[in-house]
Amino acid sequence: MGQIDGFMKFDREMPKSRDPKERIKDYKEVYNPLDKEKVKQQAARCMDCGVPFCHNGCPLGNNIPDFNDAVYNGKWEEAIKILSSTNNFPEFTGRICPAPCEASCVLSINNKPVTIEYIEKTIAEQAFEKGYLKPSPPKQRTGKRVAIVGSGPAGLAAAAQLNKAGHWVTVFERSDRIGGLLRYGIPDFKLEKHVIDRRLRLMEQEGIVFRTNAHVGVNISAKHLQDEFDAVVMCGGASAPRDLPIPGRQLKGVHFAMEFLSQQNKRVAGDNIFAEDILATEKNVLVIGGGDTGSDCVGTSNRHKAKSVTQIELLAKPPLTRNEASNPWPLWPMILNTSSSHEEGVNREWAILTKEFVGDSNGRLSGMKIAEIKWGVNAQGKMGFEEIPGTERVIPCELALLAIGFVGAEKGGLVEELKLELDERGNIRTTNYMSSQEGVFSAGDVRRGQSLVVWAISEGREAARAVDTWLMGSSNLEAKDESFVHISEEA
Ligand SMILES: Cc1cc2nc3c(=O)[nH]c(=O)nc-3n(C[C@H](O)[C@H](O)[C@H](O)COP(=O)(O)OP(=O)(O)OC[C@H]3O[C@@H](n4cnc5c(N)ncnc54)[C@H](O)[C@@H]3O)c2cc1C
Ligand code: SF4
Repeated sequence: MGQIDGFMKFDREMPKSRDPKERIKDYKEVYNPLDKEKVKQQAARCMDCGVPFCHNGCPLGNNIPDFNDAVYNGKWEEAIKILSSTNNFPEFTGRICPAPCEASCVLSINNKPVTIEYIEKTIAEQAFEKGYLKPSPPKQRTGKRVAIVGSGPAGLAAAAQLNKAGHWVTVFERSDRIGGLLRYGIPDFKLEKHVIDRRLRLMEQEGIVFRTNAHVGVNISAKHLQDEFDAVVMCGGASAPRDLPIPGRQLKGVHFAMEFLSQQNKRVAGDNIFAEDILATEKNVLVIGGGDTGSDCVGTSNRHKAKSVTQIELLAKPPLTRNEASNPWPLWPMILNTSSSHEEGVNREWAILTKEFVGDSNGRLSGMKIAEIKWGVNAQGKMGFEEIPGTERVIPCELALLAIGFVGAEKGGLVEELKLELDERGNIRTTNYMSSQEGVFSAGDVRRGQSLVVWAISEGREAARAVDTWLMGSSNLEAKDESFVHISEEA
């Protein structure tokens, strides 16, 4: 443990974000770097708890007190070794993880938690800057070949681990670039894409082969992969969006959030030709759905210079502080989340029912008919809502973005060709990461349902261990801590 009274001496300090008025003029990351000495001070706040709840809060089981201690002592190379032993991509999670570890940090019982996520980002950035992260191909190859389908964080983590175990790994991706939702979902202002490219270069130098525009089950048959490879790992994600089938859905100007967000990421990458440009510029934008995808639409709309941005949500407004009785520490706090995108300007409304998209005579969206609702417990003891009479009104909007969740694994491609069994939630059913087809494994959102990058990395690592064991009879890949009991589910 670094400084015994660090948590009493130093307050939690986060890096300053750039001025919202300035940052909405570009797609660069929102936060400025924090001085390295300050990061050491922040690490000094860690109490090296006897029972480090942060460790259990993290889906990867990161050894947080150990890397905090290394950072406090200025041992950055040791810190990246500790971090890399459980997390293949700390430069991603250090930027975009909602940090369930911080929610379960013991300090947050009566103080502010250690800035674990930011310390993680700084360790990763130091490691790249100082050259501590070098390509490290396996010393021996097993001669086995593994195909990974999908290049999101789950596929990349599985690829990195299986390559480390000595197998020859090829990643097949249907898109034109590698990265999954890291590349074409999460906006650049949260994760600049050179951060992905930097990691991919290392992975290629370690021997991993990436094939883009390769849609397995469409332009490459899954059968071909089964013939050519010893194992296949399906990491295709769960990005099929939930629709809102109410009157007016067909109007021009109503889009899925993912169409809007992925197009903007392509624009930032220099691709400028689209069948239809989806732009918020000079429009009143209505974002339907109060979650993170909706928040990303808010940030992107402000960067497009929208006339106004409104975000509506069916659920009631969450409380500002946690309910100690029903939602105590160390559980994930069910409280109002204000993202950096919200700080840039938005009108947020809760307990709103969407009734109809309203159009003009040219078939273009001009507004959304909504009504206010009241949530409560009904006579049968079930939670439900009632419309509040007299609250119906039309919110003017020329662009509506549907950010109301996802509906499980995409059913086409490999899933259809191999007739993989799905569970009741529409995700690929597995036993120890193997699907209903012998030798075809699965990990990430396609197995678990839409989740988080940190969970996708964890799934990729665990699936890799299952594949390695199946191929070789045993595995030397790191296993998650045996005593690991995960306490805070999803953010
Ligand atoms: C807008 C948005 C913002 C988000 N923001 C955050 C955030 O800030 N923090 C966070 O932790 N999580 C965030 N998430 C969630 C996170 O991105 C996902 O949980 C994570 O990316 C899932 O990883 P994955 O590898 O399972 O799948 P994905 O990232 O979805 O990758 C799957 C890949 O498989 C490819 N594929 C599918 N089928 C085939 C096939 N048959 N052949 C070849 N390729 C195929 C797809 O093209 C895709 O590239 C966000 C999600 C969205 C939609
Ligand atoms: S719970 Fe917080 S204070 Fe305790 S070891 Fe983890 S980071 Fe440090």
